[in-house]
Order: sequence, then C-alpha cells, then structure tokens
Amino acid sequence: DIKNLTGEHILNNIEFDKRHIWHPYTSATHPLPCYEVVGANGCELTFADGRKVIDGMASWWSTIHGYNHPDINAAVSAQLNKFAHVMFGGITHQPAVDLCRTLLDLSPSGMSRVFLADSGSVSVEVAMKMAIQYWACQGQPQKHRMVTVRDGYHGDTFAAMSVCDPVNGMHSLFEGVLAKQLFAPSPQCRFGHPFVEDDILPLQELIERHHHEIAALIIEPIVQNTGGIRMYSPEYLKRCRQLCDQYDVLLICDEIATGFGRTGKMFACEHADVTPDIMCVGKALTGGYLSLAAAICTEDIANGVCQGEPGVFMHGPTFMGNPLACAAANANLAILNKGNWVQQVARIEQQMKIELAPCNNHEAVADVRVLGAIGAVEMKAPINVARLQERLIKRGVWLRPFGKLLYMMPPYILSEDALSQVAEAVVAVTAGE
Ligand code: PLP
Repeated sequence: DIKNLTGEHILNNIEFDKRHIWHPYTSATHPLPCYEVVGANGCELTFADGRKVIDGMASWWSTIHGYNHPDINAAVSAQLNKFAHVMFGGITHQPAVDLCRTLLDLSPSGMSRVFLADSGSVSVEVAMKMAIQYWACQGQPQKHRMVTVRDGYHGDTFAAMSVCDPVNGMHSLFEGVLAKQLFAPSPQCRFGHPFVEDDILPLQELIERHHHEIAALIIEPIVQNTGGIRMYSPEYLKRCRQLCDQYDVLLICDEIATGFGRTGKMFACEHADVTPDIMCVGKALTGGYLSLAAAICTEDIANGVCQGEPGVFMHGPTFMGNPLACAAANANLAILNKGNWVQQVARIEQQMKIELAPCNNHEAVADVRVLGAIGAVEMKAPINVARLQERLIKRGVWLRPFGKLLYMMPPYILSEDALSQVAEAVVAVTAGE
C-alpha cells in the first residue's frame, strides 16, 4: 500500500500501468501482464520482484551488444556534457558527421547520402517520400505507388502501414484509408533451398502491368520479420533488383530488423549482392540506447530528388540527427567494427540450429527456422502469450511470442550457456511443459 506525501493512496507501478498506460499492441481494457524492470545489464533483465531473466530478443532486435555497455554509456555521457540536442536545420555536428561517415562505409558501395530519422517507421516514410519525389522530379508524378510482397511489415505509421500485409498484417482495420499499393504473394522459396522460377512470376507480372505508376518496390531483404520470420532465397532478391532495373522502378530495402549483422552479413541484401536505391536502417543502430534510424540512398536518387521544383527534399523532423542518439550509434558501430560479431552470429546460428532442432519432434510445432542470430519456432495454433511467457520466465528466459511464433534474436554477446538456457526453455514450453 503506497501513499504520497499528503497521505493519499497511490497505485503501485504495475497497478498504475495496468490502468493508465498503453503498451505496444495491447488492449487498454484487457491488458496482458506486464513486468517491471528495475535493471538491465549485459543480456540480463532484473524484475522488481528480484527475478532475473535472459533477454532472448535483444529488446526487439536492438541491444546487440547487451545492456549497460561501458563504451556506449561513456559515449552518451560525454556527449551529454557537451550538448544534448541542437536543431539540424542549418547546423551540423561531430556525432552526426561521424555517424554518417561510418554508415556510408558500412553500406553497400554506391550509397552516398544519409537522411537521419527518428524511428524505423519514419525512415520508411522518408524512403517512400524520396521515391515518390524522385519520379515527380523526373516529370513522372504518376509513378507514386509502391509494389511489395505479402507478409511484409514496415512499421506503424500511415505510409508504412500501406505496405504491410493487407490481410494477415496488423493494420487491415485501416485498409480503407491507406494508399492503395500493389501486393505480390510473399516469396515461397526458402533460404538455402533451390530457387524456383515460378516464385518471382507474380511479382514480375505486377511490375510489367503497372510499372508506369510504380515508384518503388519495397521489401525486407532475405527475412520477412514481423510477418512470420520467413527466410527466403537470395535469388528472389536478385530478381527483384533485375526487375526494378528493367522497368524503371526503385528498390527500397528495409534493413531495419536485418541490418548490422543480424543475418550473418552486415546487411541482408549482401546475401544477394544487391545494392538497393534506398536502404532503411534502425533498431540495432544505437545498440538499443536511443531511437534513431536512417534512410540511405545513392547519389543518383539524391540528385533526382533535388532536381527541378521544389529542389529540396520535403522532410525535416525536430529531433533529426539528435547528438546523443548519434553518439550512442557511433559507440555501438565502433564495437561492431571490431568485427567479433561475425563469429558471434555464426556461433549463435550453429547453436540454435542444433539446440532448437528437438522442437521439430513436438506435435504442436509446425516449423523451426534459423538464419544468423534469428531463430523461430512456429506453432500450429496461436500462442497464449501471457501463459507461455510466465512459463518461460520461470525458466529464467525473456521472450515475447507473437501469433503462432516463438521467436528469438538474442544479443550477439549472449554466452553459449545462456543461449542453451533459452533454447532449453523453448524446447520445453513448445512440448507443453
Ligand atoms: N521495418 C521492419 C522490417 C521492422 O521490423 C520494423 C519494426 O519491427 C519497422 C520497420 C518499424 O520500426 P520502428 O518500430 O522503429 O518504427
């Protein structure tokens, strides 16, 4: 029973949260259980009741080097003592310059301009606006639609929602007010399996028929994430690039989840040797410290966007290029640049392949998939999130199931023993234990 200074009863955090705070994709009237975190260190979260859990999902793909990293802490504190924020209109600063230089060094060759955005969804909006403005400035304003594939997810803002899966996705309720985009079936040929020519045909036909009105093809390269952790053949992405070149359609690769090593390559499009015209990055960019994302494009796109009227790119958020976020990103990318991630991700992949394999023997499991530091166990029926999560927590593991998926994308620094604990928990709960 907690009271404030005047003796008035106040709700404890969990009760207050339940009554007044909205969480991602939850009901206000029937909220899911919520756990209060009081500490986060390395790969471990500490709950207010003292329980500790291993974070098997790197806070949604972001904390790749773990929580409370001394280098990132130091970089953010140092920047905090210089200046926390300054407008980006007409002003630049060292953290932003350093970051954009590093991003261009890491990006596939040919990318030369960085537009910093506040979140993944916003970077998708920026990329789509760039593509539309590019064609408008080439005297082709009719090329303003996007083509994409089913089972995709690109964010929760309005333009981003318009390119998410229109039926099984999370935004079908809004369909009536979203821009009408073009959807091909999702890629069916799995990563590591032979490519089948038929797979690309529906997309090819759509582009052939509609290219005069299409600004860009937007796609998650190699792994469709929220749409089901579906890993597809690099050949499919190669064909996307070829179709875009053939029909004057720009290629936007949404690397927000896959970027910065998660699939075993710095960017997933490298599995197919593809350079997009525009690439969106976010999530792991700051190592999970602060919200920052970017849309990165080639010189050709940047020139095209700024040709003729209005001559400027029509976007500019207040917190663009926030120095604290840039400083966190710089420290995070410096750790990444040391190169250990290659072995770390390869080790996680190998271990997950072996240790999640027993799930295949369970009656309730439909499929098990692993690529890089991404693992997914797909159940035959939707998961009861609250119940499963409590069973995982009892085994010292934090995962957040979604739909029929129990998926994991651990920090790259997760130890072999801790990963085994996560895998054992997954094997046990998918067996119904
Ligand atoms: N694109 C992809 C592929 C994503 O996985 C996500 C988030 O899950 C987004 C875009 C949206 O990013 P944010 O949640 O930072 O807006």
